[in-house]
Amino acid sequence: MIAPDLRSGVEQLGDMIAEASTIIPFTGAGISTESGIPDFRSPGGLWSRNRPIPFDEFVASLEARNEAWRRRFAMEPTFAAARPGRGHRALASLYKAGKIPAIVTQNIDNLHQMSGFAADDVVELHGNTTYARCIGCGRAYDMAWVKRSFETTGGAPDCSACDEPVKTATISFGQAMPEDAMRRATELAQQCDLFLAIGSSLVVWPAAGFPMLAKNCGARLVIINNEPTEQDDIADLVIRHDIGETLGPFVGN
Ligand code: NAD
Repeated sequence: MIAPDLRSGVEQLGDMIAEASTIIPFTGAGISTESGIPDFRSPGGLWSRNRPIPFDEFVASLEARNEAWRRRFAMEPTFAAARPGRGHRALASLYKAGKIPAIVTQNIDNLHQMSGFAADDVVELHGNTTYARCIGCGRAYDMAWVKRSFETTGGAPDCSACDEPVKTATISFGQAMPEDAMRRATELAQQCDLFLAIGSSLVVWPAAGFPMLAKNCGARLVIINNEPTEQDDIADLVIRHDIGETLGPFVGN
């Protein structure tokens, strides 16, 4: 059911939150636009400017790796300046209050951790872009190391331990999903009684399967997004408004 206006949407959401014992939020890029990070699919979003580089292309081509890193460096001021918005802070308040045991996110921006979630309680389906990893041995590198290496050699860095390419710690199209995160997200979706899909176009699979899974396992499903999604039909409540406006009233002290 679509909330007729923002006020009644917030009221119904408040009732559902009060009635729930275990809430699992599932967030997408839309929760971070208020923090200044563009999403993928909105006009002006990242995809209107750059075609994504699939994983096999990254592995096969040094030119693709150089381009991927140039794009990442170009985004650095944006990621470095981003601070949690009202959506992040509202969820962090519910986490502190014990209503939310963990959060499942498609986002790679680290803002849920910055808002107060323990890193172990943030299930990152698509990884994290605030650091890098070797795609061979998994060794982690910080951005300053990558930047220095790029500037010294003029190109994308390889691992100093095993010589395989170093990539942001994110999951690209064509790259295997992280098994542990997928298992945890599945369990959380199955065990909650309220599932909140926030700021996701729900078109990237397999991540987009979690709202449906939660609903099929008996949870109430709320979708908060400023444009329609394909799963609106199965949701108990759809709030088609701005996320900051919708979740602002749930930010605690
Ligand atoms: P998406 O871009 O496909 O969808 C975002 C949705 O949020 C859109 O439907 C848009 O209309 C809506 N939205 C944007 N701002 C909003 C606001 N203020 N209020 C309400 N709705 C708003 O993003 P997605 O579904 O997360 O999937 C795409 C992939 O994008 C994910 O894999 C994610 O890793 C990646 N991504 C992440 C970030 C980030 O970490 N912040 C940014 C861009 C892309």
